[in-house]
Amino acid sequence: MQDTALYQYLLGLQSPWTVSRVNLDMHAQRVDVWAAHPEDAAWACPHCSTVLPLYDHAEERTWRHLDSCQFQTHLHARIPRVACADHGVVQVTVPWAEPRSRFTLLFERLAIDVLRHCDVSGATRILGLSWDEAWGILQRAVTRGHARKQTRMVRRIGVDEKAAAKGHRYLTLVCDLDEGTVEYIAEDRTQESLDRYYTGLTPEQLNGIEAVAMDMWEPYIQATRAHVPEAAEKIVFDRFHIMGHVSNAVDTVRKHEHRALMAAGDETLKGSKYLWLYSRENVPAQRREEFAALKRQELKVGRAWAIKEVLRCLWHYVYPASGRKFWKRWYFWATHSRLEPIRKAAETIRRHIANIVTYYQHPVTNAMSEGLNSQIQKINSMACGFRNIEHFKTAIYFHCGGLDLYPC
Ligand SMILES: [Zn+2]
Repeated sequence: MQDTALYQYLLGLQSPWTVSRVNLDMHAQRVDVWAAHPEDAAWACPHCSTVLPLYDHAEERTWRHLDSCQFQTHLHARIPRVACADHGVVQVTVPWAEPRSRFTLLFERLAIDVLRHCDVSGATRILGLSWDEAWGILQRAVTRGHARKQTRMVRRIGVDEKAAAKGHRYLTLVCDLDEGTVEYIAEDRTQESLDRYYTGLTPEQLNGIEAVAMDMWEPYIQATRAHVPEAAEKIVFDRFHIMGHVSNAVDTVRKHEHRALMAAGDETLKGSKYLWLYSRENVPAQRREEFAALKRQELKVGRAWAIKEVLRCLWHYVYPASGRKFWKRWYFWATHSRLEPIRKAAETIRRHIANIVTYYQHPVTNAMSEGLNSQIQKINSMACGFRNIEHFKTAIYFHCGGLDLYPC
């Protein structure tokens, strides 16, 4: 088999395209392949598909293709132009690349696969690309994915905020809790940030929303109330955020008590911070005895911790009436505990209880997108904190958007 025939086969070129020449440069470790076509071939106008004769050629262009073993491989061709009565003199489309791309479809597919599994710098080393080239492939893939994205019903959504590493700026993320995909990203965590997601939906899509998991964050509550019909029955405050608030209260109790004890020369609580932050079942085996001994002492933090642990039962009820009864008992206990941070946390929860017990109808939490969270954390650390927030958003869509990224 001749090398031209071999490359015609490898590139999958079809009539009227053939490989006219192959050049192997051992020193530069590269293969150059030229594609050509017969003069009398006919071409379709890219806009209206009218079949026309060749008008002339554009300048020769080069596309990076999949390597031939360790040799970088580049395809060269002059793209034919046709003179269409309706569209003027235009370049035809070539079967091996998207318009304006400098890579063949197969190379771009490979690059997308590599980019999915490592960061942009890693991809530049594996593929022998510049940072801008690799980033360009990633960015085009996201644009392509968004253009193809169909309007569909997202029934259960999670709204969460993410700190973008540099400068402590926030992003608002909307996730599809069933698909585990990031549907929308906005800067900041204001009402407007979330408003923009809702205003992009059709009335059918807004009606189709069944549940919205979120933290007790006023701007998100307002945005959801303003746009989602019957939002009052659909907002579900995320149980892990709520437990987070109570855990913070436990930690505040510990801090105050530790300070008071230390002033009296008592080191009982020294080094115990994390013990009180664990859930009962997560205390590490080697510290269980130490923790049990601490709990046997009459400590304020011990009481605060017990109150927090019991609250977790609120989400185990099946019947709303039983759940509400439990809640009343717990609230009484917490507010009569003489532990100020715990009392405050209980008051915050009371103000929001109507949309906490909606959990019984819609058992959703933002932890359903936990996999997403860890992935986003990885994206952020891979890029050592994105200096450019647009880049961070694009990378999240690339890795977590559930988009169809490949060129076709
Ligand atoms: Zn045309």
